Amino acid sequence: MKILIINAGSSSLKYQLIDMENEEVIAKGLCERIGIDGSKHTYKREGKEDFVEEKPMPTHQEAVNLVLAALVDKDHGVLKDISEVSAVGHRVLHGGSTYTSSVVIDDDVKRVIRECFDLGPLHNPANLMGIEACQAIMPGVPNVAVFDTSFGMSMEPKAYMYAIPYKYYEKNKLRRYGFHGTSHAYVSGETIKFAALPEGHRKVIVCHLGNGSSISASIDGKCVETSMGLTPLEGLVMGTRSGDVDPAVVQYIVDHDNISVDDVLTMLNKKSGVLAVSGVSSDFRDLDNAAAEGNERAQLALDMFIHHVVKTIGGYVAVMNGVDAISFTGGIGENSIAMRKNICSYLGYLGIEIDDEKNNVRGKRQEITTADSKVRVFVLPTNEELFIARETKRLTEG
Ligand code: ADP
Repeated sequence: MKILIINAGSSSLKYQLIDMENEEVIAKGLCERIGIDGSKHTYKREGKEDFVEEKPMPTHQEAVNLVLAALVDKDHGVLKDISEVSAVGHRVLHGGSTYTSSVVIDDDVKRVIRECFDLGPLHNPANLMGIEACQAIMPGVPNVAVFDTSFGMSMEPKAYMYAIPYKYYEKNKLRRYGFHGTSHAYVSGETIKFAALPEGHRKVIVCHLGNGSSISASIDGKCVETSMGLTPLEGLVMGTRSGDVDPAVVQYIVDHDNISVDDVLTMLNKKSGVLAVSGVSSDFRDLDNAAAEGNERAQLALDMFIHHVVKTIGGYVAVMNGVDAISFTGGIGENSIAMRKNICSYLGYLGIEIDDEKNNVRGKRQEITTADSKVRVFVLPTNEELFIARETKRLTEG
């Protein structure tokens, strides 16, 4: 069974074709600048040179057409016929409070995705365009939506409610949803398997640390807390996002700089975080280098990031009354040996002992604690596409 995974953004479309017999990626690629001049499609296969084409892609439909043409091309294709694609799995940002798990897409599902445009204004419209392009070009092939918000739907009201007038929840569905759900679901599930955690000992904290960062706490693979909220702005200090701030800060800036709330939110999303604190970069490698050269603001940004991660982990241990395993994932979690070590140096109270040799790893599944450590800590690279492919297979086979 071969499954095509589509992650459609407003002007881009990432894809992977996965063979579910061995869960291997047969081909993958990226269409960029959809709807903009200079559209480009890059197509990759293991061990072969990239195939790059620059052809107009006014809409997502032309992008999907180019992807399918590349997959069956007589020179660089990997399929004899497009009918070999059994199903398509789509990453969809927001399923509102309607979808607590992945679903086969029909008109009702599309209606809900549309209804959630105001909750995910950048992503949901693009996700829907990707879905409609596949439906138009591959009629009869089932499409599955895997929502980034589904994982957070198992939170209890005491965790997901905002303490604001109740009507905003009842009428407008304002609540904490959480994001990176596909990653948290995959990594928490894989942590349970990889660590062979027995039933009753499956309290897992996943630290997804990348340009966008979030932490989740789950028991038996079911989310009980996660750090992002109504939007991905809530929670940790991130590359360019502020994370938690007192909402009064927004009013203060509106009044003092005479700018709109929209402008302040753009600032909090795109011009804040470690980028703003350091004045150097949102990239943690640049911050490490600057801090090593004595840049105090770069060091402060790193210290703030660690502080918020550690504070969140501590809160989640309290909420779950314990933790059995902690996994690091995302660009920073998978690759920054120093960041993992620094975060875990605050967790001695949990009996965590990092093994420096084991921690000397990048982008590879590995336990990084000593045999005596009371809580086991792992590096576990995320694989959102594989999670989407598994969900698509589960919902469409047989
Ligand atoms: P996104 O949220 O965009 O998916 P990623 O998960 O790819 O982001 O993470 C990107 C971040 O990972 C960047 O800030 C980058 O600096 C960081 N990163 C990657 N490799 C390293 C490394 N070796 N040391 C520190 N940070 C790293």
